[in-house]
Amino acid sequence: MKYKRILLKLSGEALMGTKNHGIDSDRLTQYAQEIKRAKDTGLELAIVIGGGNIFRGVDGEKSGIDRVQGDYMGMLATVINAMALQSALEKHGMYTRLMSGLKMEQVCEPFIRRRAIRHLEKGRIVIFGAGIGNPYFTTDSTASLRAIEIEADVVLKGTRVDGVYSADPEKDPNATRYSNVSFQEVYEKGLNVMDMTAFTLCQENKLPIIVFDMNKPGNLTDIVAGKEVGTLIN
Ligand code: UDP
Repeated sequence: MKYKRILLKLSGEALMGTKNHGIDSDRLTQYAQEIKRAKDTGLELAIVIGGGNIFRGVDGEKSGIDRVQGDYMGMLATVINAMALQSALEKHGMYTRLMSGLKMEQVCEPFIRRRAIRHLEKGRIVIFGAGIGNPYFTTDSTASLRAIEIEADVVLKGTRVDGVYSADPEKDPNATRYSNVSFQEVYEKGLNVMDMTAFTLCQENKLPIIVFDMNKPGNLTDIVAGKEVGTLIN
């Protein structure tokens, strides 16, 4: 096994499946199955989930909602997704803990770094909800920050494309996929991996990122086993 402790980042949008908002139960089940297969290899696993399927602070701004207020709404959206994911994982027999960047004692624990690490050591999957608890950040930044804090070996960014391309593959037919690319090259070429805050955190702390297609069955387990899947940024 190549990685012992990983942080998996899933976007909120991924949970929509074929719907145009909300949570698709088939997709949730599919993710739970993929996560179980990876977890069963003996891996320590933490998950950050986004909220874009429900609410984004910047979108709120367009409809007149104050940015900071909207960002808190976005953070609450991630908690809804996190609770749905927690429920799906438990239904598939996994032990989980939900830790939140905002205090919500009735539904989740507050984020306490040492406690998060203890949960991981005990084999529980830790889901981080509510981002880092501050406006003007994203769940990508949350993934980078929490991964560093829990000393994860790698951040796995699960998306619907199979890696990082030289251009947008949905628009440019000549776009080519990188299997391995350096932080410097991503920066120089302006490649789309994560937002800059999230990316810089990983770069400065020498935390590798793998961008991969989370919707392809077996990908997650293959990465954990050390197979080359998606794009490795290091
Ligand atoms: N958000 C925030 N601080 C954080 C994490 C998230 O303010 O630390 C808000 C922000 O408004 C963001 C929304 O929550 O747009 C949902 O998260 P994100 O857009 O990262 O979700 P994803 O794109 O991964 O679905």
